Amino acid sequence: MAKSDATPLSPGESTQRRSVKRFDMERDEMIQLLQERGIRDERLLGAMGSIDRHEFVQEAFVNRSYDDSALPIGKSQTISQPYTVAFMTEALSLHPGDRVLEIGTGSGYQAAILARMGAKVFTIERHMDLLVEARKRFDRLGFTIASKCSDGTLGWKEFGPYAGILVTAGAPDAPEPLLDQLAPGGILVIPIGDQEVQTLYIITRTKDGYVSRQAAGFKFVPLIGKKGWK
Ligand code: SAM
Repeated sequence: MAKSDATPLSPGESTQRRSVKRFDMERDEMIQLLQERGIRDERLLGAMGSIDRHEFVQEAFVNRSYDDSALPIGKSQTISQPYTVAFMTEALSLHPGDRVLEIGTGSGYQAAILARMGAKVFTIERHMDLLVEARKRFDRLGFTIASKCSDGTLGWKEFGPYAGILVTAGAPDAPEPLLDQLAPGGILVIPIGDQEVQTLYIITRTKDGYVSRQAAGFKFVPLIGKKGWK
């Protein structure tokens, strides 16, 4: 019989190594799927390929961490589908050092990707419980991200203007404070529609006003706030 020269693993170590290996493969497959679906930004693919989505997912769903689907994170909210995260991030056309405001911290996954791409990230969440968990993840994984618990429809004027603003919840319209807090040439990415289905608006601030393009067929939880849904 052939003799194995592998060092035997202790029981805990064995489980850990097996799961890391499995998730590595699933993460690679997720990146491949994103490429097949048209995501091209290498820095974005690098960031998503280097961040453990399973760190942002509740224990009960950890085996589905790399599925291309949204998953529950508590408070009736979700971590967005990887393709949606990638599509919205690519639409921002980010450069390292850009200031980016995210509305809807949720699990913190999207903010972590922006930070890994070199952006200075500011993120707002209206549920304190979710923000507390997201902050723990940022600390544990070594991300420096400014965050606050507030109504994100009003933006975060103090640190603006922003090269990019990403709204990760569905709005009835583009909140004026967010449009105001865009730097010249800055881009607001926001799903707008009813509470069932939204169109993604990619709005660029020009010297004369704003221009927008759209992408159809996204579904988000509602943006609740003074300039959102009641
Ligand atoms: N970006 C998140 C992630 O990476 O996990 C997913 C966000 S989830 C789809 C939308 C989030 O927006 C929810 O956590 C929800 O509580 C939050 N939200 C809704 N309205 C908000 C508001 N006015 N201000 C801040 N957060 C809001």
